[in-house]
Amino acid sequence: MDAIAESQNKGKGRAVVTSLIREYYSNARNLAPQSVEKREFGIGTFDAKILYRHLSFGSEDALKAYLSSKAPPYVSYSAAYYKHPGKRPMENKLWEGSELVFDLDVTDMHLPCQSLHGRAWVCGTCLSSVKAETIKLIEEFLMPDFGLSDSEISVNFSGNRGYHVHVNNNALLGLSAKARSEISSYISGAGIDATLFFPTAGQRGVRLVGPKPTDKGWAGKMARAFLANLNIGAEKLAALGISPQLAKNLYKKRALIEMGIRNGNWDMIYIPNKAEFWKGILKNQAVSQSDKIDRNVTRDPSHLIRLPGSIHGDTGLIAMKIGKSPALEGFDPMSSAIAFRKGEVACVANTKESLTFNSSEFGPYKNEAVTLPMYVGVYLFLKGFAEIREAHI
Ligand SMILES: [Zn+2]
Repeated sequence: MDAIAESQNKGKGRAVVTSLIREYYSNARNLAPQSVEKREFGIGTFDAKILYRHLSFGSEDALKAYLSSKAPPYVSYSAAYYKHPGKRPMENKLWEGSELVFDLDVTDMHLPCQSLHGRAWVCGTCLSSVKAETIKLIEEFLMPDFGLSDSEISVNFSGNRGYHVHVNNNALLGLSAKARSEISSYISGAGIDATLFFPTAGQRGVRLVGPKPTDKGWAGKMARAFLANLNIGAEKLAALGISPQLAKNLYKKRALIEMGIRNGNWDMIYIPNKAEFWKGILKNQAVSQSDKIDRNVTRDPSHLIRLPGSIHGDTGLIAMKIGKSPALEGFDPMSSAIAFRKGEVACVANTKESLTFNSSEFGPYKNEAVTLPMYVGVYLFLKGFAEIREAHI
């Protein structure tokens, strides 16, 4: 027995999920990425997310036949195009270029809800936060700073707790790992020196000149981010490390401050140690705008990433292709990315939190026997919060 079949044979739950995955791939359409014959594929078992790689398929039919027969819980493909994607070692594949890919995952974010529910659980706030981050990547960086258009950017739900952004632009296909790494650093704000945006900082009696919201690149981003936080309220400012009294003062004078900043004048209010103070704030803004890109995915041109349209073995959800920005804003993976809509499953579930699926709330469950819609039972089983006893399809 091969490792895939062996992993699938462990326990009732895996057997149920395997048969659902098999049925899903037998009926799936549009599984092949662009230029399928030039991509390397990898598949995983319940025990290892990428167990085999260096696979290649000459056509969508060949890919579909393989997935329907093996029913693997994880399928990845290369952002790279190769002349011989199935050859090994890597040098023999003959690299022809790679899409630029960004992997935004809630585990890279530091959210207050995560300390309440733990990192193994993904709540609605987690999902909406990582979606906002994805929109920010596209609207604050890829489009304005890199000049990319809507049609060159595609987004898909990762299938678990994040989003993948693929850039398909001919001029970027040939970028080296070093150039990709620089793009990643720029987006994560690494190495940004805030003092450069304040040329008069530290000069006594001289007006503090700083970035305007209309400036290009990071200068404008910092000004806009500061104004956005200023207008949210004193609490938000205090959360950025400003003393509560000063935060109140800034918020009270926000109209005056905003007017100044719009003209590049950051001197509208007296603040002790102002250069350091602004620097600190801006540094904070930079980190909160960044630090969430999984750098390895972006910088490594041979990385394998979840195949859009495939099932994610941690959730039973579809790593779903999403349309352009308005579609992303309204996208709810816990409704739209459901794969196993038919049937129910009897399980024993144990969760501290409830979860919202398809606009209904489930749980919490205290180690109790429950019959759930198939997609809910499978999700909890794959996340380790339920055991499957019996499936009714
Ligand atoms: Zn959360």
